[in-house]
Amino acid sequence: REKAEKFTFQTEVNRMMKLIINSLYRNKEIFLRELISNASDAIDKIRLLALTNKGELDTNPELNIRIKADKENKILHIMDSGIGMTHQDLINNLGTIAKSGTADFLSKMQDTSKTESGQDLNDMIGQFGVGFYSAFLVADRVVVTTKHNADKQYIWESDANSFSIVEDPRGDTLKRGSIISLHLKDEAQDFLEEDTVRELIRKYSQFINFPILMWSSKTIEEDVPIEEDSTTEESEKAEDNLEDSDDEAKVEEESENVDKPKTKKVSKTVWDWQLINDSKPIWTRKPADVTDDEYTEFYKTLTKDSSEPLTHTHFVAEGEVTFKSLLYIPKVQPSESFNRYGTKADNIKLYVRRVFITDEFNDMMPNYLNFIRGVVDSDDLPLNVSRETLQQHKLIKVIKKKLVRKVLDMIKKIDKDNYSKFWKEYSTNIKLGIMEDPSNRSRLAKLLRFQSSNGKDLTSLAEYVQRMKAKQEHIFFIAGANRAEVEKSPFVERLLSKGYEVLYLVEAVDEYCISALPEFDGKKFQNVAKEGFKLNESEKSKSRFEELKSTFEPLVKWLNEVALKDKILKAQVSERLSNSPCALVAGMFGWTGNMERLALSNAH
Ligand code: ADP
Ligand code: MG
Repeated sequence: REKAEKFTFQTEVNRMMKLIINSLYRNKEIFLRELISNASDAIDKIRLLALTNKGELDTNPELNIRIKADKENKILHIMDSGIGMTHQDLINNLGTIAKSGTADFLSKMQDTSKTESGQDLNDMIGQFGVGFYSAFLVADRVVVTTKHNADKQYIWESDANSFSIVEDPRGDTLKRGSIISLHLKDEAQDFLEEDTVRELIRKYSQFINFPILMWSSKTIEEDVPIEEDSTTEESEKAEDNLEDSDDEAKVEEESENVDKPKTKKVSKTVWDWQLINDSKPIWTRKPADVTDDEYTEFYKTLTKDSSEPLTHTHFVAEGEVTFKSLLYIPKVQPSESFNRYGTKADNIKLYVRRVFITDEFNDMMPNYLNFIRGVVDSDDLPLNVSRETLQQHKLIKVIKKKLVRKVLDMIKKIDKDNYSKFWKEYSTNIKLGIMEDPSNRSRLAKLLRFQSSNGKDLTSLAEYVQRMKAKQEHIFFIAGANRAEVEKSPFVERLLSKGYEVLYLVEAVDEYCISALPEFDGKKFQNVAKEGFKLNESEKSKSRFEELKSTFEPLVKWLNEVALKDKILKAQVSERLSNSPCALVAGMFGWTGNMERLALSNAH
């Protein structure tokens, strides 16, 4: 190894490794998930490349991941026939952290690691994807042997402090791909055990779309001819001793000797590559054949979320374009700070004929549905075009449109219990959808829930409409900072006393959302805090109102021309109040007090 070039890790890598080792020491096993996921990514890459350049696969057409434990030398090997790495790739990919935002993430994590509980941090890092460097959780030395079609075979080696790269003196022994060899720490020897490794693959990597093979032993029974030599005699003597205490067995053996005198059964250990996973993608299976558990496990693999999803939808879309899709709603909306760290783009994975194409078409979902996770796989899209060309393909537009419809369907079908959980997390998304997506406005309106004077429970607009009084033409609402405030509002008093229901819009986005919604079920919305709002009154009360108006005319005149001149637009007698003497009302086309409040608080 004299010719090996020595390198130091980028500072961020050192910090990343420290962070991983300090926070994930109780969860070491995730290293295998990370390395298998890298192997799978590497195979995805060569397959994608081969779509436009057929020759790329010739070096090794077999695409799989192999895992082999070398107990004698305490090494665990993870091999793939993926794209491999060139000399430059090794320096760039296994010496630096290329992902933007990672440095920010790191410093943030290091700050919080002192205060937050280890488990939270674990989840965060787990979701972030710790990647290759997690190998050092279990290994004190990592050796990567790799062959890329465009370069020679190299050996990268590191003890976590620095790394070296050397051209492989054995030549190009790999056809193409990589071997990650982990020299396991003393406390990580369990990862050499077949059962342990098999369980881990089943736990974390069962949905990898390439065969995962494990070098495994199997005990088989074999008929071998009996030879009259000394070793056979010895073993026969031993058997005789045992048989002294077991007469039946002796009888059996005697009869066997009569039937087949020339062979005997011997158990023998053989080694072979054993397939561990079912690499048929879950979304290509019939929904009836997939269990809830499998849907949940696939979700966890896809998102690295440790909790189960709120709900999912699995369907085949047909018509202008045929595609299969499996979509999920996470229980909890990823926090904003988390979103910034590069995970936003991989929400929807696009496959064409089972070949992974990209998770970087950021607009597979409209902004307001960016919490949806899942996969889309179509046979109708071209395979041999660039991603840029594909992104412009007219069928992509059709797919996106259908995806939105299917998501809204999925949300509509959530049962009552889960819907309140959904609404708690995603209400703002749906309200933004009303503003941003006119073509689905009426579908989205059905998903809205608001507080109301009807009771403590949230109500849908459909339920409100059902409860409307016979001659009520409008859906009444009032907007404000919180329930207590709007409940007490003088605007609401009269309506409540007459038995009308009023929606309480107490979220910042509510009033904007309703202004974007022209009507629901043919009923227009009426802000009870705005001018021009009238109730259908009887002839008697109309005449009483006219009477009041003339009685108070001098007062109104004085308010308009003297007392409140220049302070208000106009004073007038109103029938909207019952106990309060007066109220400040917004003009029909003006901002309401609530809008002013929001604008003011945004400005500060
Ligand atoms: P990520 O997978 O999120 O990009 P990792 O830390 O897991 O981050 O891996 C870093 C990079 O190292 C990968 O992006 C890839 O370029 C390279 N790499 C890791 N493992 C392999 C492999 N088995 N074959 C080819 N390249 C690999
Ligand atoms: Mg990775």
